[in-house]
Amino acid sequence: MADGMAIEIGEAGSVLTAFEPGFSDLFPEKGSLRVLWSEGKWTEGPSYLPLTRSVVFSDIPNDRQMLYSELSGEVHVWRGGHRQFVNGTTPDAAGGLILCEHGTRSLTLLSHDGRRVVLADRFEGGRLNSPNDVVQHPDGSIWFTDPTYGIEFPDQGNPGEKEQKGSFVYRYDPGTGELSAMIRDFAYPNGLAFSPDGTRLYVADSAGSRSPGDKRHIRAFNLDSNGQLTGGEIFVRCLNGVFDGFRVDRAGRLWASARDGVYVISESGEVMGRIATPQTVSNLCFGGPDRDLLYITATSDLLVINLVGPV
Ligand code: MG
Repeated sequence: MADGMAIEIGEAGSVLTAFEPGFSDLFPEKGSLRVLWSEGKWTEGPSYLPLTRSVVFSDIPNDRQMLYSELSGEVHVWRGGHRQFVNGTTPDAAGGLILCEHGTRSLTLLSHDGRRVVLADRFEGGRLNSPNDVVQHPDGSIWFTDPTYGIEFPDQGNPGEKEQKGSFVYRYDPGTGELSAMIRDFAYPNGLAFSPDGTRLYVADSAGSRSPGDKRHIRAFNLDSNGQLTGGEIFVRCLNGVFDGFRVDRAGRLWASARDGVYVISESGEVMGRIATPQTVSNLCFGGPDRDLLYITATSDLLVINLVGPV
């Protein structure tokens, strides 16, 4: 699909499929799904930077981070050629950007003053696998997943040996520098996000991408005020492909990546509907000054769709 090609949402050529009432209300009648850029190999890790009205995102096999400007409509290489193979990212509360680096097998902070600081790259004596996706809890702690994709696939990182006993979900405490393995029973933990009040943690297991028939669901955990996790039941199963990155909106709905688009899932776990995309979706983020845009990284593309905001 060419840059700038627009698919109008509407009766003709609709990209929206509603499974539950209320789904269509999330989108304006005259909105559209648009391709902003389509020159990547595997786009990932989008984060919206409000001050500059821009979206940074990764193009992992090309080992570069791109920047899309809402103001100019242009995309350019923001950071490239570092052998870091950045995957998931999230803005931190202090104005920096937290990166999952496959290449260095680390969780890293690009601070507001331009410094690059490795936050975590080892656990119990071994190197991490390849941090995949990251989110910051309202209390400031940084949570990330650590599956092995980045040491298994030469175009996703630097091939290497697994030095951990599993693929864990970690909590990093920026105050103390302590790294804790909070969840140890995932095969390929991938996207993760908190409910708006920080009391629920959702984590995707994308093992089905490696072994058809294996896990392809999101589990939900409760996080109490003492920092203890309980629960972990399957919250929703993926209908097509696996769940990769996802975000939670202010109403508590999950917007989750899958093979054939973005699925919107209610707080109670009902699949409300799907935004169909031309290619497999890896991740997404909300953006726009009114938080009424959804940016989607989908294989070679950066896509955007209008929402009724603020979401
Ligand atoms: Mg991912």
